[in-house]
Amino acid sequence: MDARTKRPDTLLTHAGRHSSDWGGAVNPPVYHVSTVLFDTMEELQAKVAPPAPRMRYGRLGTPTSFAFEEAVAAIEGADRSIALPSGLAAITAAMMAFLKTGDHVLIPDNVYGPTRSFCLSRLARLGIETTVYDPLRGAAIAELMRPNTRIVYTEAPGSQTFEMPDIPAIAKAAHAGDAVVILDNTWATPIYFQPFAHGVDVSVHAATKYMVGHSDAMMGVISTIPAHRAALEASVRDFGFSVSGDDCYLALRGLRTMGVRLARHQESGIRLARWLADRPEVRMVMHPALPQDPGHQIWSRDFTGASGLFGFVLQPTSDKAVAAMAEGLELFGMGYSWGGFESLFLPCHPESMRSVTTWDPGGTTVRVHAGLEDADDLIADLEAGFARLKAAG
Ligand SMILES: *Cc1c(COP(=O)(O)O)cnc(C)c1O
Repeated sequence: MDARTKRPDTLLTHAGRHSSDWGGAVNPPVYHVSTVLFDTMEELQAKVAPPAPRMRYGRLGTPTSFAFEEAVAAIEGADRSIALPSGLAAITAAMMAFLKTGDHVLIPDNVYGPTRSFCLSRLARLGIETTVYDPLRGAAIAELMRPNTRIVYTEAPGSQTFEMPDIPAIAKAAHAGDAVVILDNTWATPIYFQPFAHGVDVSVHAATKYMVGHSDAMMGVISTIPAHRAALEASVRDFGFSVSGDDCYLALRGLRTMGVRLARHQESGIRLARWLADRPEVRMVMHPALPQDPGHQIWSRDFTGASGLFGFVLQPTSDKAVAAMAEGLELFGMGYSWGGFESLFLPCHPESMRSVTTWDPGGTTVRVHAGLEDADDLIADLEAGFARLKAAG
């Protein structure tokens, strides 16, 4: 199959499939393997780079991980995708592929918390300096570039506050200074944002979220263009990251239905966001697909859809009232992570993770994941929640 001629849903269904190598099965077998045996000295000593046509050693991948990687690369338009044991492992391995002591990194102020912590603590210990930038800075990021700036890191949108950065403008400024642009593309997935068509060099994902899609495995993936393939493969190999066949199987199985799941997450997410925007208890809604959202124009220009994760801010109320609303929800769970089939409601504190911008929206920030339940049932659950909020406030 020529991946370049096929549309996303077709790629999700067909990419990475090799039934003739798998005894005719539609899906790959799961290999539980460390040692791999070779029949001849020639095979034993062959220099084969991953993803190898055959296994060399368990850590270096199995036909199950090769199939997952091939499918993600086809969907994302990448030269190469590499499976990792978590989203954070994908982020750190991608950064370490490029950095050395004395380098400088730019990260947005709304970046995923553990990414921020990795830069400000771990990288700092290695003599690598990080500057935090306003995610809405756009082309003016050029003023923060230094001769030693090696990575400009982006996330679109921020996963608690949903500001939409201008990725092409940031990429242009970064490339003018010879920096590598890394994007955390977890929110949009390759279905709704094609990173390499917008100037990104390396895309990282928490596959844990929409790719796995069922809240039952941790996985990450890095995708890239030919220029950076070798550096990223070496970084993942040197750190010894390895993913179990079972988890690769679950992520590949999740990918097969990601398109239809996302369409539903998107539809319900927009419905809930619109409904919330009209409620008197709600101060504002952060969802780039709503026309009134400050990021809407960039989102419409660069993205082909929105996933089910968005945020809103409550009118000022007591913590007790927020707890009464959140704890009594029947369908929405309270928990970290997202991208599974289930809906989530997470009061959060983005203001505690800011250094160059402020997040002071005048009420409690809540992150919502619209799951695959019936949207009318979700709305009824939120409505009952607002009644509890009012009663307890
Ligand atoms: C969850 C998440 C990660 C980290 O993924 P893990 O698989 O939990 O390590 C990275 N970026 C974003 C935006 C996330 O939501």
